[in-house]
Amino acid sequence: MSEDLFLKIIDREIPADIVHEDDDVIAFRDINPQAPLHVLIVPKYHIRTINDIEQKDEILVGKLFSVAKEIAREAGYAEDGYRVVMNCNGSAGQTVFHIHLHLLAGREFSWPPG
Ligand code: IMP
Repeated sequence: MSEDLFLKIIDREIPADIVHEDDDVIAFRDINPQAPLHVLIVPKYHIRTINDIEQKDEILVGKLFSVAKEIAREAGYAEDGYRVVMNCNGSAGQTVFHIHLHLLAGREFSWPPG
């Protein structure tokens, strides 16, 4: 068993509500949603935090945004708007140390974020 929660989801060791999967990326609904649409977009390749992103990862990291955009569009939020967030380390609230983009939509969001 992997110690990485999201690798366990990728490996189907634990269940998830998967909304997208391809060779590079998996996306599934957050177990504790903070908006009517809350999806996590995760690279299958393990990168621990934003600090660990290397030049070779740039295309993969860019793909997270492309997948987020497509999920938001398919869910009907392209025009209304949505938020994407990636937390890095403790002060930002990162709890799962395998990078992931949060896609949130379906309510009004405040700025600055809390
Ligand atoms: P972070 O705090 O930015 O690292 O985000 C981690 C996210 O993973 C949180 O929003 C959690 O609710 C979510 N999460 C934790 N365990 C699971 C799970 O098993 N399935 C789906 N989402 C999860």
